[in-house]
Amino acid sequence: MVVAEIGRQLTVAAAGPFAVILFGSPGSGKGTQSRYLVDWLGIPQISTGDMLREHMRRGTETGQSITERMRAGSLVPDEMVDSLVRDRIRAEDCRRGFILDGYPRTVPQAGAMLELLSSVGGDEVVIHLAVDYNVIVSRMAGRRVCVKCGTLYNDVTRPSKSAGICDLDGQPLAVREDDREEVVRERLRQYEAQTEPLVEFFRKTSKRLVEVNASVERPEVIFGRIREGLKALPGGEVYPA
Ligand code: AMP
Repeated sequence: MVVAEIGRQLTVAAAGPFAVILFGSPGSGKGTQSRYLVDWLGIPQISTGDMLREHMRRGTETGQSITERMRAGSLVPDEMVDSLVRDRIRAEDCRRGFILDGYPRTVPQAGAMLELLSSVGGDEVVIHLAVDYNVIVSRMAGRRVCVKCGTLYNDVTRPSKSAGICDLDGQPLAVREDDREEVVRERLRQYEAQTEPLVEFFRKTSKRLVEVNASVERPEVIFGRIREGLKALPGGEVYPA
């Protein structure tokens, strides 16, 4: 694979795309780091969680079949997410590469993803955001969302000016359905059982794994660590400055 830098964009002049696999537990800051990576590398983010929520919102057959599992914080079947990702990465905007946020989440999904990638001549880099269990629970317990405009707050890291009220439209703040405590615990249980083994899987199989401690610092500091980690990998000098 040949990767060269043009402006602030990562350019892949290989047969296939460059996949940046971002994984970490719920509440590890994957979504925030994905957005930084999108801006830095100029490739799109693919979030299976967002795609599944969109199916639920539109009430598609897929959406209807997963409502219960999503509400309970359980994973949806591997084949379903495998096929969503397979279809999505065929799109033109994924030609150079893409950031996978929340996929793969099981060892079989990782196997399917690596096979798919090698079938299109692509390559991957893996970023693992490691966060302490207690930090995650307190981060997620503090999350609040505006019932009207959807703006996110956090009692600890991003409080609203007036408790329980949105700064932008004065509407009440609520706890998101999948941030309810029992759902958070179930999501963490699933993560430990199904996704934690991926760390070992990638330690064994991937030439390019970056492990970042994402427990305490601000998101920009964590992103700085990701960039340093990527640049320290073999061939890392090709990333944007
Ligand atoms: P997220 O927004 O990534 O935290 O995902 C929200 C929910 O979508 C998860 O709790 C799962 O129910 C489902 N989900 C998202 N990605 C996957 C995946 N790769 N495999 C199975 N279920 C997933």
